[in-house]
Order: sequence, then C-alpha cells, then structure tokens
Amino acid sequence: MTATIIDGKAFAAKVRAQVADHVSKIKAERGEAPGLAVVLVGEDPASQVYVRNKGTQTVEVGMKSIEYKLDASTPQNELVALIHKLNADPEVHGILVQLPLPGHLNSDLVINTIDPAKDVDGFHISNVGLLGTGQKSMVPCTPLGCLMMLRDHHGSLAGMNAVVVGRSNIVGKPMAQLLLGDSCTVTIAHSKTKDLGAVCRGADILVAAVGRPEMVTGEWVKPGATVIDVGINRIERDGKTKLVGDVHFESAAKVAGAITPVPGGVGPMTIACLLANTLTAYCRAKGLPEPKGLTA
Ligand code: NDP
Repeated sequence: MTATIIDGKAFAAKVRAQVADHVSKIKAERGEAPGLAVVLVGEDPASQVYVRNKGTQTVEVGMKSIEYKLDASTPQNELVALIHKLNADPEVHGILVQLPLPGHLNSDLVINTIDPAKDVDGFHISNVGLLGTGQKSMVPCTPLGCLMMLRDHHGSLAGMNAVVVGRSNIVGKPMAQLLLGDSCTVTIAHSKTKDLGAVCRGADILVAAVGRPEMVTGEWVKPGATVIDVGINRIERDGKTKLVGDVHFESAAKVAGAITPVPGGVGPMTIACLLANTLTAYCRAKGLPEPKGLTA
C-alpha cells in the first residue's frame, strides 16, 4: 500500500483563503478588521521566526497584526500589565504570548491573565475546561488543524480507534479531547506506556506528538490507518540539517492509508488555525455568526 499524502500546505492555503474572504466582508460591511496581538519576550531564534510568520500571514488575510517585542529581562508585572492593556483594547480580538517564555516568568500565570475570549491559542485554563466538558471554547491551533484535516479526509470520525502518542497540554491532551468530541475511541499514550508498538497498531487514526525524530515506524502502523505527524525535529543527516517528524515517513507511508508529511503537513495548519481562531474570537465578540468549518 502507498499512502495518500494529506497536503497540509494546500489545506492551510484553503483555510487562509476562507479567513481572508470573511475578513474582506467584515471590512466592507463594518469598516473594521479583526486584530491579533502577538507578544514575544526575548530573542529565541525559533520563536522569532514563528512570530514573523504569524505577523506576515495575519496581514495577508487582511487582519491587523500588532507585535510586541519585549526584552528577555522584562519583569513579570510589566508583561502582565501589557496583557491587561490588550484585554481592554477593543481593537484587539486575539492575544498570543509566544512560548516558551524566559525562565524567570511564570507561563501559567501569564497565559491565565489573557481574557479567555481573546485566548486564540486556547491555553487559558477556562478554555481547557470548556474543551474538556464539550463546551464552546477557543481550541489550541495545532490539534484544531489536525482535526480539520482528519474531518476533511474521513468525513465522520465516529467509532474510529484513535491513538494519540504524547500527553502535552498544547498538543496531546487537547487532540485527544477533540477526537473524543468527534466520537472516536481514544487512547492517550506517553513515555510510560507499555508496548507502545502494539498500542499504535490498534489505531485507525494515529497521531504522533512526541518530539522524538522518526520514532513511529511502519511496523507500528495498522494497514490503511491515517497517520498524523505533529513532530518537528531538526536532525543532521548526510552533513545537512533536515526537518523530520516523529514518524518515519518512508516506512509508515508503505503501510498507512493516509499520512501527513513533514514539512508540509501539520505545521502550516497551525498558523492557519491561529488566523481562524482570531476570526472566531472577533465574531463571538461582535455577536456575529461564526465562520463555518473553521472551529471545532
Ligand atoms: P512535549 O515534549 O511537551 O510532550 C511530548 C510527549 O511525548 C510527552 O507526553 C511525553 O511523555 C511523550 N513521549 C516522549 N518520549 C516518548 C516515548 N519514547 N514514548 C512515548 N511517549 C513519549 O512536546 P509537545 O507536545 O509540545 O510537542 C510534540 C512534538 O510536536 C514536538 O516535535 C514539537 O516540536 C511538535 N509541535 C509541532 C507543532 C506544529 O505546529 N506542527 C506545534 C507544537 C508542537 P511523558 O508525558 O510521559 O513525558
């Protein structure tokens, strides 16, 4: 079997086009645009690239991008004060604080200072609780992107066996909640799981969010399964730096029915879903109908 490649890059372009279309209607009808504020503390090179890409794509879909670049030594009270200011700003509909934060800052406290209605990353404890109880929430961008691709590929996910490898708060746990919300039978695996290969082989949907390069091989994939590779790992191979996922693509693609590549799979969907979430936050704030197909 050779797997169908789920093209996250093309799918993300479609999502961005949908968002852009909504935004242009909002501008025409209301003379305003949704605004996304992104706060970066420090100079972590990967975070700088993410923030730049987020800013560019926000502007490309017609939204307002507001960037705050703070010194690495910014004290907690200054960051918290900035978030309070953004919470109160009627032109800001989404707020994202780029993680990880420098060690002296309390990430939980900072994230929980964001108004939950503007929490476009979906990390605020209120949104985590709402998602966990099946209520309307802001949904973390990476798992939302995975869900959109799965729904697009399968239609209904009801009754499928889903295995999520990884239990982080930003990917694994919300991914499992979303799959449960779509009536999958969900298993969450982690570093203490026994016979992980056997657990994975039971999956109709296998999501790898581990942070270990190419750990999931074809031997762990059930024939015909859909494999979603969330991992982004930089490795040295043949003297070059290469981006690989948590799945060994070549071997898994021989067994799976469908698979996301790295790069070009889950990665591009994450920013597209951030833009979708900002649009959703705007529509909710204004009492407008939510955009169809862009939320969980
Ligand atoms: P974390 O490090 O927070 O979590 C990793 C999870 O994997 C943990 O639950 C850990 O288990 C589990 N794990 C680690 N080693 C093993 C193992 N040998 N067997 C089974 N489980 C294991 O990572 P994140 O969730 O933040 O990210 C996961 C991956 O996704 C990374 O590669 C990251 O770069 C990528 N990522 C990609 C995004 C995108 O936009 N595409 C966005 C966010 C992340 P335990 O809890 O027991 O320690």
